[in-house]
Amino acid sequence: MLKVGIVGIGGRMGHALWECCLGLDGAKVVCGIDKSTDTLPSGCNVEVVDTPSKLSQAPDVFIDFSRPDCSFGILEYAAKNNCKVILGTTGFDYDQKDKIKEYSKKIPIVFAANFSVGVNILCNLVKKASKIMADADIEIVEAHHRYKVDAPSGTALAIGEAAAEGRNVNLKDVMVSGRDGITGERIYGSIGFSSIRGGDIVGEHTAMFCSEGERLELSHIATSRQNFARGAFRAALWLEDKKPGLYDMTEVLGLDKD
Ligand code: NAD
Repeated sequence: MLKVGIVGIGGRMGHALWECCLGLDGAKVVCGIDKSTDTLPSGCNVEVVDTPSKLSQAPDVFIDFSRPDCSFGILEYAAKNNCKVILGTTGFDYDQKDKIKEYSKKIPIVFAANFSVGVNILCNLVKKASKIMADADIEIVEAHHRYKVDAPSGTALAIGEAAAEGRNVNLKDVMVSGRDGITGERIYGSIGFSSIRGGDIVGEHTAMFCSEGERLELSHIATSRQNFARGAFRAALWLEDKKPGLYDMTEVLGLDKD
């Protein structure tokens, strides 16, 4: 039985993970990390501490949906205690992503901006469309609930990375985000991002390929956080026998890389 520690257990994803695990055979939650114990899931009867160094026992794997500063504390502890990490937190900058790569030399990590099966298939299709519609203007539109703190969403950036990969360019060289005012004409080859925030929207993403006389739109709509939670546990069970390395959901789901 895989022993799981949920990081951010008092948060929205923490609750979804707790509920998801109640119906699973191969894994059980043994501990949680959260800076506050005011919002723990109902029925939560495991050890919950505010920092991993206070845990009485290390879990086999951490499933982390928290904030970047918290995630680095988890990675440091995991590297010292030989734990695996499922990293769902978003909002890391490029330097922080490089640091995650360094940790993956010591421990196995599945890092994904989105653990839903549908979104990972979407990224696969975006890469193909971007390659075939090489002249199309690519715009990525995302919508999330009013409490989300980062923009564009990690998933939107992952879709952008897939589009950039399809054209053999680096996203950071072609990305244009949050246009406002006299922006000038659209830069040829750029990939644009727009973010909408409101209400209880779980997560919606559309990649638009705008060409002369036609437009292709590929969309995904998440209706509940359970799809992320199920994907995260699927990744945790998949990671059980893996060597140190940085994995993503393409590998977990066995999607082709081309
Ligand atoms: P949330 O704000 O509801 O929950 C975050 C939890 O982390 C809170 O309970 C908070 O107290 C805790 N936390 C924050 N900083 C901490 C620290 N330094 N130490 C200990 N605990 C700390 O947020 P959420 O909606 O559950 O999302 C969490 C993260 O997961 C976000 O980055 C979000 O973008 C990401 N997310 C990723 C996916 C995916 O599939 N990869 C899906 C949904 C959300």
